Amino acid sequence: MQTQKFIVDAMLGKLARWLRILGYDTLYDSSYEDWKIIKTAEEQKRIIITRDRGLCNRAKKKGLECFMVNPDYDIANTLAQLARKYKIDLHVNVDATRCSECNGILLKVGDNKWQCSRCKKVYWKGRHWRTIEEILIKAQSRVESNEGSSDNRGTKPRGREKVSKDSQTSDNVKAEVNRQV
Ligand SMILES: [Zn+2]
Repeated sequence: MQTQKFIVDAMLGKLARWLRILGYDTLYDSSYEDWKIIKTAEEQKRIIITRDRGLCNRAKKKGLECFMVNPDYDIANTLAQLARKYKIDLHVNVDATRCSECNGILLKVGDNKWQCSRCKKVYWKGRHWRTIEEILIKAQSRVESNEGSSDNRGTKPRGREKVSKDSQTSDNVKAEVNRQV
């Protein structure tokens, strides 16, 4: 069940798209201002995801849940961290997935075809699906291999080299996903 809801700060649009693909109700707009993010998170009980430490501190003072994204921002790593912290499910349920463009609910309109109930964009499970699954498998393996480590504190540069190598690969993949999803 994808019950957790998120609001994602500007600059993290790709992460927002991934959360929507995974079926999580995720608000994102590159024009969101800090006050708006905090107000919306408070009213709609959404978890804030940001790279802005100041925003995160203000949110926490109000008792809101906030997740700081590592500046390296590798999708598979970030998804693995979110899975550990908020128990998000890293498997795609095609019938629960949301529109990656607008967060709308997808309706099944054919054998292998879904349409966004809001922006009417049509989706199908094509070749790009493998790319999505590969990233998720990578993320799942990191959830297992990093079990129990204290991530998301920004204090441990451990594994930095590996991360930058990986983010290069995943940038290509992300471009691919953006083009096709
Ligand atoms: Zn849509």
